[in-house]
Amino acid sequence: MSELKFTVGSNVYNVVEIDGLMRKYDLYGQVTYSDCRIEIEPSLGATRKTNVIIHELLHACLFEAGYDDQDEELVRRLGNVVTQVIGDNLATFDKLLEMEESE
Ligand SMILES: [Zn+2]
Repeated sequence: MSELKFTVGSNVYNVVEIDGLMRKYDLYGQVTYSDCRIEIEPSLGATRKTNVIIHELLHACLFEAGYDDQDEELVRRLGNVVTQVIGDNLATFDKLLEMEESE
């Protein structure tokens, strides 16, 4: 997986693959705020990986916005929809950002 970094608030979160995350801890992914790390299970398929990274990114967004106590169900549901909206509208996001740049 090529190096992925996301700026969230004033921090840069790095995505790293961790062998055995699923086997040892029964997790597809996790985020740690102290070192701004999103850990992901490398054996996941590409689509699942994207979904998990966006899910962890949502946790990071909420944390950076000051929500220390997060509702896992809300993050899971919203993460699934946000994954779909981003994935199905990449060209539109490009257009939107081009409009912003040309102003
Ligand atoms: Zn979660």
